[in-house]
Amino acid sequence: MRDVTGWALTEVGGRLHPWRVPRRDPRPDDVVVRVTHCGVCHTDVHAVQGAGAADLPLVPGHEFVGVVEAVGPAVTRFAVGDAVAVGNIVDSCGTCAACREGEESYCREYPTLTYGGTDRVDGSRTHGAYASHVVVRDAFTYALPPGLDPAAAAPLMCAGITVWQPLRRYGAGPGVRVGVVGVGGLGHLAVKLAHALGARVTAFTTWGRPGSSRLRRWRSRRRPDAPAVARRSA
Ligand SMILES: [Zn+2]
Ligand SMILES: [Zn+2]
Repeated sequence: MRDVTGWALTEVGGRLHPWRVPRRDPRPDDVVVRVTHCGVCHTDVHAVQGAGAADLPLVPGHEFVGVVEAVGPAVTRFAVGDAVAVGNIVDSCGTCAACREGEESYCREYPTLTYGGTDRVDGSRTHGAYASHVVVRDAFTYALPPGLDPAAAAPLMCAGITVWQPLRRYGAGPGVRVGVVGVGGLGHLAVKLAHALGARVTAFTTWGRPGSSRLRRWRSRRRPDAPAVARRSA
């Protein structure tokens, strides 16, 4: 066990402050990741603002990228120096029907969340990536493809996968029309991903009155094949 630098909520109604985050010694199938970039998901804000005494201490952060600093002896997919990414789940039962199909988010025993979860081996509370280092099972660690901007890639591990999954499941692509309601943290990624998949995309938004400068700016940047924008009433 070692302590690393991080940010935590330790008081109900308080603010995040520097805190020594306890990290386990790597197990045989663990990867030690030095966090270089971590997204600020709105869930983090909800978690901090809604935390009760039983949730403390709370170290948010569940969409991050970093560099492998050490690996356990059973890890074969990663080596020191590799760029990796981790999302909102760090473990699951591995044996239920959902886990066997790669749908760990539906694990019958509930997946272990990156923070605020309970470690399946030692029962400790999991702490997220608002910290210098995270120790995570290799099965829930993903190689970061070269050439991706790590700062832009970090939010793909939560917001991105959240919209990617339904787009893929329901066949977004050429000849398919996709409507995205709300162009926020998730919605703007859904617009980009659906467009990149070749779907015809319409974004529905409440921001900007018809003819407003904000909508004009959006439209002026559009290529002919870019997503359309429709305003919906609030
Ligand atoms: Zn999130
Ligand atoms: Zn399971």
